[in-house]
Amino acid sequence: MADDMRIGVVGCAGRMGRMLLRQITATEGCVVAGATERPGSSAVGQDAGAVARIGTLGVAVTDDAAAMIAGVNAVIDFTVPEATAEHARLAAQADAVLVAGTTGLDAGQEEAVVRAARHVPVVRAPNMSIGVTVLMALTEQVARILGPEYDIEILEMHHRHKVDAPSGTAIGLGEAAALGRGVDLAEVRQAVRDGHTGPRPAGQIGFATLRGGDVVGDHTVVFAGEGERIELTHKAASRQIFAAGAVRAALWARGQPSGLYNMRQVLGLED
Ligand code: NAD
Repeated sequence: MADDMRIGVVGCAGRMGRMLLRQITATEGCVVAGATERPGSSAVGQDAGAVARIGTLGVAVTDDAAAMIAGVNAVIDFTVPEATAEHARLAAQADAVLVAGTTGLDAGQEEAVVRAARHVPVVRAPNMSIGVTVLMALTEQVARILGPEYDIEILEMHHRHKVDAPSGTAIGLGEAAALGRGVDLAEVRQAVRDGHTGPRPAGQIGFATLRGGDVVGDHTVVFAGEGERIELTHKAASRQIFAAGAVRAALWARGQPSGLYNMRQVLGLED
């Protein structure tokens, strides 16, 4: 339809990129209006529908991100950190909504996303699934109720191809727990334990990372007290949940003022 949101997918041949092409095509109120891949990718020049194995979409994959982004209302980005920083700059320039799911950004790259949010609505979340968004809210709430006598440990497992650790979601859960406790995660984070570690310092938020097989993403937040333990767990069975959340975020962000938003705001769990 004429007023359908025109969405561009950068990194469209990636695991998430292909899922996004399928999700946008299956969602009312939006269309795939552009698709990019990195220069040299065999997907460049192909029809985006062929890349996602969903027939022909009439959208050719390009490696010219600036030209693609200039022609869309929103960009959905699940690529690599350096590309995401550049796409954020281009989205701001083109007045396009940005939904950025890439994890592992360094401080400078994250700052590029924050800068873009001064000009356009940006939705940024380490995990765009609705279930994990609820898990984040619960983690903050439980951390606030239980207080520091309960030790917090965050356990995650992902497929063998994942390149960053702990996962962006695990860090996001750590931030939610820290917020609930009223502390700064950077000051209490313990990401690695090996050798003679000594006893666990009070107030730490610990992380444990497992990698293997094709696990889409498992996260557990453990609150371990004297004589009892609470565990909050989310298990992703398909990447489709991230794509569905990202498309929902893009549609929600249309018409919002410029600014940096999270998935809790998209779901109406937070102002
Ligand atoms: P992937 O490696 O399968 O896909 C990334 C794609 O980006 C590749 O096709 C690659 O060629 C492309 N790319 C690289 N540089 C590019 C450039 N300059 N321009 C255009 N395309 C470029 O990875 P994936 O599993 O799809 O994950 C991508 C990112 O999304 C990772 O950081 C992952 O952690 C993150 N992720 C986030 C969520 C979430 O909900 N926020 C969920 C899943 C994955």
